[in-house]
Amino acid sequence: MKRVISIRAVMLWILFIVLFVRAIGSDPTVQAKTYKKGFTYKKISSTMKSKMRGKSYPKSGAGISFSELREVTVRYYNFSGKSKKGTLIVNKKIALKTAKIFYELYRIKYPIQRIRPVDVYNADDTRSMEANNTSAFNYRKIAGSTKLSMHSRGLAIDINPRINPCVRNGKVDPVNGKVYQKRSVKKCKGKYKKYMIQRNDRVYKIFKKYGFKWGGDWHSLKDYQHFEYAG
Ligand SMILES: [Zn+2]
Repeated sequence: MKRVISIRAVMLWILFIVLFVRAIGSDPTVQAKTYKKGFTYKKISSTMKSKMRGKSYPKSGAGISFSELREVTVRYYNFSGKSKKGTLIVNKKIALKTAKIFYELYRIKYPIQRIRPVDVYNADDTRSMEANNTSAFNYRKIAGSTKLSMHSRGLAIDINPRINPCVRNGKVDPVNGKVYQKRSVKKCKGKYKKYMIQRNDRVYKIFKKYGFKWGGDWHSLKDYQHFEYAG
């Protein structure tokens, strides 16, 4: 009897130690780094990994490991002026920069409709863009090409993509962003035309400051939503 109890006690201790190690080892809240209150970054949590696998992160053949990515939590003001919490998946190289950029955008109350990982849209970029969702990592090719997008490395961020569509040979992506093809605020008839990204505006300058290039400056196509890290 005595022997049975001690084995049980040992088993309980082992269980306790395993749970404790797991709690401090894999609990993402323990590892999260805070830039400013509400602006944090951490390794991809196991919950997030399971949401990403088979969606934004391929089940096999991904040219990037989860350890190279970070889950960044930010705050932003939505189109109703309400303060909201958002999550971006980015390359670890730009995790702190992303926190800083979105902190600056928050300080100037820059309007962003929503910020969710693309997995919420089944990693379907068209659906995410149509929902005007701001996002970053997605292991995918550049639309209409065989080349991997900078989003595959978590080094590009798309801001309010419906009102800042990608225009290539007159084709507007997403289709419901067509009204924002005209980039002049005077000529555009879109409801949120004042939120369109323009060269040298506030959002442009903030991203530039942290070493990003803007897709609206490109010549072959205009990707007005797209900022990619050039550093
Ligand atoms: Zn993009």
